[in-house]
Amino acid sequence: MKFSPEKCTIPDRRMEPFIDPAELWGFLNNTKPTKERVKEIIAKSLEKQRLTLEETAALINADNPELVEEIKEGARTLKKKVYGNRIVLFAPLYIGNHCVNNCKYCGFKASNRFAIRRKLTDEEIIRETEALEENGQKRLILVYGEHPMYSPEYIAHTVKLVYGVKKGNGEIRRVNINAAPLDIEGFRTVKNAGIGTYQIFQETYHPEMYKFYHPSGPKRDFNYRLTSLDRAQEAGLDDVGIGALFGLYDWRFEVMGLVRHTNHLEAVYNVGPHTISFPRIKDASEFNIDLKYMVNDKDFAKLVAILRLAVPYTGMILTAREAPEVRSEVMQYGVSQIDGGTKLEIGNYSSTLNEEQNLNREQFRVNDARSLSDVIEELLDKNYLPSFCTACYRHGRTGEHFMEFSVPGFIKRFCTPNAILTLAEYIMDYANPKVAEKGWKVIEDNMAELHNEKQVIEVRKRIERIKQGERDLYF
Ligand code: SAM
Ligand code: SF4
Repeated sequence: MKFSPEKCTIPDRRMEPFIDPAELWGFLNNTKPTKERVKEIIAKSLEKQRLTLEETAALINADNPELVEEIKEGARTLKKKVYGNRIVLFAPLYIGNHCVNNCKYCGFKASNRFAIRRKLTDEEIIRETEALEENGQKRLILVYGEHPMYSPEYIAHTVKLVYGVKKGNGEIRRVNINAAPLDIEGFRTVKNAGIGTYQIFQETYHPEMYKFYHPSGPKRDFNYRLTSLDRAQEAGLDDVGIGALFGLYDWRFEVMGLVRHTNHLEAVYNVGPHTISFPRIKDASEFNIDLKYMVNDKDFAKLVAILRLAVPYTGMILTAREAPEVRSEVMQYGVSQIDGGTKLEIGNYSSTLNEEQNLNREQFRVNDARSLSDVIEELLDKNYLPSFCTACYRHGRTGEHFMEFSVPGFIKRFCTPNAILTLAEYIMDYANPKVAEKGWKVIEDNMAELHNEKQVIEVRKRIERIKQGERDLYF
């Protein structure tokens, strides 16, 4: 699957901005698709080809309810056909909320005098990680405000600290990062600490609106943020995550921005983003922004389905910002990762605060406050296969979503067996009897999806070894 350049008004060059709002609006305003054209585009995506900006705009402009249903059905089919029924689980760990910026939508903004500022001490990071491990987590994303305190060296230090925490059979096997943009040297430093994905959301891809929401601080520089993941690539960190904060500007434009960003990384570095996130704005302490661009649930489901079809080989992340009902609806359109048991209040995995204390410590309100166990139980009830797999990262196989997508048989050979083995570990170490029963049943159901009889025998042997106490077995 080769990247096919489109005629973009701004050519793609290393570390140079690439967003032209007039171009993106041009596609949106001048693409009026017929029914046949929409069907053709969906078919193209189902043949595992990335969509162009023009094709993405066509899906966005398909308003007829029947066509929207076809788009959603296309996304559902693509997810099933390509990725199967695995859902990877993770949790965010907020390290500190000091911030020099003033993003209008965020509870951590410097001007919020109600925010209780806190940076976890090393002992607290260890305690929080232990608490997460005791729930069964294996993959974390560490989150930081933007502040000189959170330097690349400090970020690297916290990453190593987390990797070093072992509680019982628990350990964190993949640490991802969501933090401010760094320079090339900074990205090198965090890469050397062994991070998985470095995630930075552009928030809005519209430069004028971006300035409006970011009135002061280093984050005000649109282009520095836009080119941050280029600098990551220059530093050899090719595992990057992009995202837009939906609700700041017209969602249709943001979807185009995300696709344009993907094109850019592919054109220049020959590798697209590892993941795309599509958070919707939620209430926060001192939250005071116009609700005009809020995205309703219907459009949200449509936009997730369009993203799935537009960039078929990129991981898609849906967080606990969304309520359980929205999560279970949207998941079917191609989401590959969700968080479970999420707490955003700093230090709250290992201690408990009351509601009021919480809002001033968290960045925004979480709408899915269920425990990891409850989230897993619901996934099992819906026949998803919960996974804590980190095998590709640890085998040095970067770009696993691309391989899942493009290497025939990859999912059957690696992903499904690894998901089964990590679920078996979870059941043995952390599941209550009800979840355990449902979990073993889903494991059995998924055995049928494996490559061949020889492989089934090998996976069964490994499950036995897990039952005998061995851990961390993967293909
Ligand atoms: N400080 C760094 C930055 O701004 O990139 C990284 C961490 S920031 C805490 C992580 C992300 O949270 C932001 O990029 C933004 O998209 C999202 N966020 C901020 N305020 C939010 C809100 N009120 N509702 C939902 N998401 C929000
Ligand atoms: Fe700071 Fe990030 Fe919040 Fe902006 S979004 S105020 S940079 S923590």
